[in-house]
Amino acid sequence: MTFYRVAIIGAGPAGYFAAQALQNSQTDDLRFSIDMIEKLPTPWGLVRSGVAPDHPKIKTVSKVFEKIATTERFQLFCNVELGKDVSLAELEANYDAVVIATGSSRGKKLGIPGEDLIGSFSAAEFVPWYNAHPDFVDVDVDLSCDTAVVIGAGNVAMDVGRMLALEPKELDPTDTAEHALEKLHASSIRKVHICGRRGPEHAAFTSPELRELPKLEHTDVHIDSHQIQSAKMRAEAQGEIPKDVKSNLDAMLAIAESEKKGHERSMYFHFLSTPLEIKGTNRVEEVVFGINEVKHGKVVATGEKFSIKCGLVVSAIGYESEGIEGLNYQGGKVENTDGRVPGKNIYVVGWAKRGPSGVIGTNKSDSSDVMKLLIEDLTTPKQGKNLCDLLATKGLVHVSQAQWELINQAEVAAGEPLGKPRVKFTDRKRMLGFAG
Ligand code: NAP
Repeated sequence: MTFYRVAIIGAGPAGYFAAQALQNSQTDDLRFSIDMIEKLPTPWGLVRSGVAPDHPKIKTVSKVFEKIATTERFQLFCNVELGKDVSLAELEANYDAVVIATGSSRGKKLGIPGEDLIGSFSAAEFVPWYNAHPDFVDVDVDLSCDTAVVIGAGNVAMDVGRMLALEPKELDPTDTAEHALEKLHASSIRKVHICGRRGPEHAAFTSPELRELPKLEHTDVHIDSHQIQSAKMRAEAQGEIPKDVKSNLDAMLAIAESEKKGHERSMYFHFLSTPLEIKGTNRVEEVVFGINEVKHGKVVATGEKFSIKCGLVVSAIGYESEGIEGLNYQGGKVENTDGRVPGKNIYVVGWAKRGPSGVIGTNKSDSSDVMKLLIEDLTTPKQGKNLCDLLATKGLVHVSQAQWELINQAEVAAGEPLGKPRVKFTDRKRMLGFAG
């Protein structure tokens, strides 16, 4: 029987699915011992700090992660930072293979004037703020204005827009960060504008997310039905409309035609609107947009403009990977060939491999495909040190699976009397207290 040792860096969906693929590939002759490293004291990556709190069903995938984590020869090392506590070179030298599953945590920049004004955020800060990520607790979000603008026409923009436009009572039974919930309850925001630069037919929203909008109990959602009809005509003129585009356009039309109840809170969708400038003296006061049109299938500027007065801007226009020493990057991703990092025993999965696209489930097949290549490349097992030894020589304390389970139980117990799935801890010291 041959044992191989694999280090997976990043305890998010792509990392867990990589571990699962290795576990499922075991035979009588082939065995894996898996060490998963995570920078935070808690695992689950975007399932914990990305998925919107009002989408608890999506988070049930964490049960799968826990099953993977409690399978034999799997060890979790939370609170261990690559590059600080252990280097990639050390892992490369001591493990048979290293899997990078560190995602894309840096928000893409708009690159327009005023982007850095106070009151302008990237979703890469705003989302982890409302999801209790310990590094984003102090993001200074001011919700004292009446109007917010969200830039982007993808599901992250939709999540951010919904979180701002919901009646906050609807978030009480969720695991929204306590600091964010408090601010959302006191929020003066009543109008949220979601703005995409291309047409409705090009939007990156997915239809289940669009279809839930007319069901919001305290928020009216506005889309101009003429814009959707024109988009349908343009799409039809190109031939048969792809299924997902048709489903999106139907969902948008249903929103446009849904009865408006005169709620105090409302969401507005704008398409063909490119942000040109964020204006303000000391802080955000207005966003100026260029109006586009679709000509011969191409989105072009008309030269006309409009603006929206607002006190908060969140850009949700995609993400890039943060650099890891020893790896090359291209287009915001780790340079790779189908997940193989050329010339090394390093593999990459998830958003770090393919860029920030796809839903959580996309990572299952993606990670599994990469793990097949990893297995193909295996040669003689290394006799290197394991992570426990590497960390012990440096006197570092990590959060193990058993210790994470204690944190998990304590969070769930704190949520129980409040009717919440959990109250997420944000204080590292408190969490590390469980590591003993
Ligand atoms: P996304 O789906 O790629 O959407 C990004 C949006 O930003 C697009 O509308 C894009 O427009 C726009 N954009 C990019 N650069 C821009 C610029 N300079 N100015 C204006 N707009 C710009 O990315 P995402 O929303 O961050 O989501 C990432 C992935 O996570 C997606 O696969 C998404 O489905 C997934 N996700 C899923 C859920 C869920 O299942 N509920 C929730 C959240 C996220 P163009 O198309 O014109 O480039």
